[in-house]
Amino acid sequence: MNILYVYAHPEPRSFNGALKDTAMVTLGKLGHTVKVSNLYAVRWKAVLDTQDFRMRQDPYQFNPALEQIHGIQTGSLSPDILEEIERVAWADLIIFQFPLWWSSMPAILKGWFDRVFVQGFVVHLEKGQVYERGLLKGKKAMVVVTTGATREMYSPGGVHGDIRNHLSLITHNIFEFVGMTPLPSFIVFGAADMTRDEGSLQLNRYRAVLEKL
Ligand SMILES: Cc1cc2nc3c(=O)[nH]c(=O)nc-3n(C[C@H](O)[C@H](O)[C@H](O)COP(=O)(O)OP(=O)(O)OC[C@H]3O[C@@H](n4cnc5c(N)ncnc54)[C@H](O)[C@@H]3O)c2cc1C
Repeated sequence: MNILYVYAHPEPRSFNGALKDTAMVTLGKLGHTVKVSNLYAVRWKAVLDTQDFRMRQDPYQFNPALEQIHGIQTGSLSPDILEEIERVAWADLIIFQFPLWWSSMPAILKGWFDRVFVQGFVVHLEKGQVYERGLLKGKKAMVVVTTGATREMYSPGGVHGDIRNHLSLITHNIFEFVGMTPLPSFIVFGAADMTRDEGSLQLNRYRAVLEKL
């Protein structure tokens, strides 16, 4: 399988770094071809703005959605975006790994979606190409996430609310919206307070999940 691994943690020596390294070894052993988009390592530009467009459709008034459609049609999006678009097109499965920040993804990853999932490539609203007809239909996607809070806190009725509701902004409103099939999310609850032994158990659990992909 061709796997794109989009990774968003600023510290290679973190537990997230260990999860990512575990994935690289495991997926490699299984014979998958893996490309990594290590967003902090490449200092990914997180902000969608006029610089993303080398040939503006309307140089007077900036309309991000219309410029994205024009940019994908003319191949004039900035090279860092085009490179990621090629990787997404190539992938059968995309894994997004990140620590939960403010019950969501870190801004650098949100910026990856803002800039890479351009209309005309992942969906086409005017043509009704969303969800079942989304342009990334046939691909699978998976969230791998660590939290500081406990499983109880992120349970239905818990102080933070059900984590599945928070993640559905990604798994439903992004993955399914563009046609991709979400795989079950891999969640490490209470990661911030784990001992190394508990961390090792979680790495083993992740390895086992990847082996069943
Ligand atoms: C801006 C911000 C917002 C946040 N918002 C939220 C939020 O809304 N909800 C929430 O729940 N949390 C939140 N957090 C907490 C955050 O989700 C956790 O700190 C993060 O998920 C922990 O992952 P880490 O990789 O940084 O862990 P690390 O701090 O790197 O590691 C945690 C523990 O894992 C173990 N470990 C590390 N490396 C290894 C290894 N190689 N092998 C085995 N064990 C290892 C160690 O015992 C270590 O103490 C927030 C944090 C920030 C900075």
